[in-house]
Amino acid sequence: MLLSVFYKLAIHSSFMLQKSIKYLPGIGETRAKLLQKELGISTYEDLLNHFPFRYIDRSKYYKISEIRSTNADIQLIGKITEIAEVGEGRKKRLTATFRDATGEIELVWFRNYKWIQQKLNTEDSFVIYGRPQLFNRKYTIAHPEIETLEERKKKSFLKLQPVYPSTETLVKKGFTHRVWTQIMNGLFQQTGLNFKESLPESVRKELNLVDKNTALYNIHFPQSIDLLHKAQTRLKFEELFYLQLQLLQKNIHRKKKIKGHIFENIGEYFNRFYHTILPFELTGAQKKVIKEIRKDVKSGVQMNRLLQGDVGSGKTIVAFISMLMALDNGFQASMIAPTEILAQQHYHSLKKFAEPLGINIRLLTGSTKQKERKELFDKLAGGEIQILVGTHAVLEDKVIFDNLGLAIIDEQHRFGVAQRAKMWKKNTIPPHILVMTATPIPRTLALTHYGDLDVSVIDELPPGRKPVKTIHTYSKDRLKVFHFIKSELEKGRQAYIVYPLIEESEVLDYQNLTDNYEKIKLFFENTPFKIGMVHGKMKQEEKDAEMAKFKNNETQLLVATTVIEVGVDVPNASIMLIESAERFGLSQLHQLRGRVGRGAEQSYCILMTEYKLSEEARTRMQTMVATNDGFKIAEVDLQLRGPGNILGTQQSGIMKFRLADIIKDAPLLHTARNIAYKVLKEDFLLQKPEHQNIRYFLQKQIKESGFWNLIG
Ligand code: ADP
Ligand code: MG
Repeated sequence: MLLSVFYKLAIHSSFMLQKSIKYLPGIGETRAKLLQKELGISTYEDLLNHFPFRYIDRSKYYKISEIRSTNADIQLIGKITEIAEVGEGRKKRLTATFRDATGEIELVWFRNYKWIQQKLNTEDSFVIYGRPQLFNRKYTIAHPEIETLEERKKKSFLKLQPVYPSTETLVKKGFTHRVWTQIMNGLFQQTGLNFKESLPESVRKELNLVDKNTALYNIHFPQSIDLLHKAQTRLKFEELFYLQLQLLQKNIHRKKKIKGHIFENIGEYFNRFYHTILPFELTGAQKKVIKEIRKDVKSGVQMNRLLQGDVGSGKTIVAFISMLMALDNGFQASMIAPTEILAQQHYHSLKKFAEPLGINIRLLTGSTKQKERKELFDKLAGGEIQILVGTHAVLEDKVIFDNLGLAIIDEQHRFGVAQRAKMWKKNTIPPHILVMTATPIPRTLALTHYGDLDVSVIDELPPGRKPVKTIHTYSKDRLKVFHFIKSELEKGRQAYIVYPLIEESEVLDYQNLTDNYEKIKLFFENTPFKIGMVHGKMKQEEKDAEMAKFKNNETQLLVATTVIEVGVDVPNASIMLIESAERFGLSQLHQLRGRVGRGAEQSYCILMTEYKLSEEARTRMQTMVATNDGFKIAEVDLQLRGPGNILGTQQSGIMKFRLADIIKDAPLLHTARNIAYKVLKEDFLLQKPEHQNIRYFLQKQIKESGFWNLIG
């Protein structure tokens, strides 16, 4: 009963909000089309949710002598002392000198200034608003907003003037502050303040959040700074809360609905490997994660687990042991990686473990030959192949498993959500999924992007590793660095020298590498040390051959482009020299550094840069020197580059928050997560009367975003 009444109400108000904006005063057919095209705004609701991205404090006036920068809009009061029309033809413009008690600046208008010209005079006081620029050591404001002080005083003026996201076209077509404000005014006049509350009373009380009407009104028409902040907090919370509800509901739903293969037995493979082949004792963290996985795969529920572990923390062995759980129960397992080199690396290291156990393991990548493919596909579908390692190639529809029980996706952030979904479809009951990432994901990002996954962390490195010492030097000290490398090689170590890929030009890239190779050769000419080189242009076999030589210590120096970023594990290599380090991102640098420090000897990572560095590049170098902790590095990376860049564009679809900023609003995000969890734990299907509004808005949001499909 209660439910149906609620839905009627909701349908009524949602009907209003679905109306086309062309019916609003001041919009009409043409502007409606324009807003649709430029910003995708077509309904009242779209407009209501088109929030300002900042506010200008129009109660604040500057003095001319206070102008320091040219990157902020400012407001001034003063008088016009001179007005002139200068220039010829297309360069014709109107200029005016504007003074207050502290100094003077220029104002300039380039076109359509007839009405300004009529308005300007040397008697009235004017209020102007705009962005100063520096010309010939003099501040100038082009096309300022201008009105007389009298005009300003007559206005019942909002002190905090909203600035709406807009486009160049809209600005050209006259969508000024004033027009936006008029439109929003019209909207609120039509709708009234009757918006349906979307948060439970108890949650609002607990967190001291303003109600929906107050929030929506003040986000568009802030009545005070305090109310604006309250409005923002409430709307941000709502945004994060609903996202967490979706993610958590999805997680819980999946656990309830989606059956998982049951790996009941710990069998022959597992035991033999663990007791006779495993070459070292697992770390506590590895054991803990294996237990977590073990619990999942025998629970009857499909596992969806994210495994985070820093470079070198030993994820591969955990992956392999998980695969053995599948194999022991008659299932196949697969592991995919984003690049051919990484896939090969996995294949080779897993093969070493698998072969003594008599396990049939194969590799499938883009460069697998047609003939081999056919044979491989047959054996895979027949169940003869037990472990398939590969790249994206494995995801193709024609790759059919007999009975896939576990799929492992390495470096998930380089794969899209869609690819994860493809793995699901490789068996009638979806396989267990283990997603691994060596780029630690800051907790906030994990919560928004992998919030539907369970998370395991390997937070301990294998014993006996000495932390890599990281040094930042400048290229003028290259000779010293080379001498240092030589002295390490004399102690029996090996070293990498890495150059950035010159992505714009393969030719230049190759040139750069070979030039440097020659220089290095010259330096090490009269030493016993041999130098190898790998780069992107080499054939796979050539690369493999070079890598193998380095691994076998036939070469002591490996000169390379970033093709070695992932892939090689040479414990005797103790020096990583990164040339032009400023051209690498933090996570790349961290990955590269992870190539050393794998043996018992002290290792070094030397970051060589030009002397002049951007502030951002300097922060990257300082961060690398200051810490070896991948999670800390990831946090800095997140702050430097923003979430979109870290996860790649493929997943940016879920990133578009209207107001929330997952970096700045991290505490709010955690709160939202906790409260969403509490609500769902108590009432998973959202059936309680006090959760009806959540249920309604959640369903609406899911319908609109297609979220379940996206994540599925
Ligand atoms: P990553 O997490 O970066 O994938 P790997 O799985 O490649 O790390 O492991 C890095 C190196 O550490 C490998 O040489 C691996 O054999 C070794 N390793 C892994 N676990 C242990 C352990 N518990 N004790 C000693 N060495 C280990
Ligand atoms: Mg790895």
